[in-house]
Amino acid sequence: MNKIIITIDGWSSCGKSTLAKQLAKKLGYIYIDSGAMYRAITLYFLRNHIDWTNDISVSDALSNIQLAFIFNHESNQYEIHLNHENVEWLIRDLVVAEKVSEIAAVGLIRKFAVAQQQLMGKEKGIVMDGRDIGTTVFPDAALKIFMTADILIRVERRYKEMHDKNPNITLEEVKNNLSHRDYIDSNREVSPLKMAKDAILIDNSHLNMEEQLTIALQLVENLV
Ligand code: C5P
Repeated sequence: MNKIIITIDGWSSCGKSTLAKQLAKKLGYIYIDSGAMYRAITLYFLRNHIDWTNDISVSDALSNIQLAFIFNHESNQYEIHLNHENVEWLIRDLVVAEKVSEIAAVGLIRKFAVAQQQLMGKEKGIVMDGRDIGTTVFPDAALKIFMTADILIRVERRYKEMHDKNPNITLEEVKNNLSHRDYIDSNREVSPLKMAKDAILIDNSHLNMEEQLTIALQLVENLV
């Protein structure tokens, strides 16, 4: 079968990246975490105290940002580098999570990220997850998945993930952050989070990883 583009969009902490990684591995495709790009840009803006409400400051800052996904043989995955620094772990911090949706709503920033994402898909054979991948980045993708899950289940999953790195974090903080990001992501003017008309919905509230992967692989097979 010819290589295709697979998009996985959905709400925060729905398990998009876990499924995308597994699917890419099974198919021998490249997995790209588009959220990592917005997170890395956010880290740059916060570190350099850039005013993201000012177009000139934003353009200036973007001209100094270089993003690259580089394969790490130890973790066995592509990790994001910001101006040659591996920031894969730094960008998962709550400080970044608290601001990323505001920054990702800025038109100029989306334009910058989307152009790079589209280049990465030129050769196909890619699974990309995010919020606008099936609607804006690859509207002609062969397979589009939209993931959802119960908010309480999402909060618990995210809490477990973050608690290892930050034992002081509370369930309430995680819940507020997820709801805040979901609200901004689905209400912003430029390419808001919404399900593409031709996307297939997977609610994984009560599905384990294997069950989700089986469904996704079946969807790929159905395309042949
Ligand atoms: O996927 P992740 O939760 O790491 O993404 C972080 C944030 O980046 C999201 O909450 C959203 O605001 C933004 N994002 C986006 N468009 C994408 C991917 C992520 O706006 N394609």
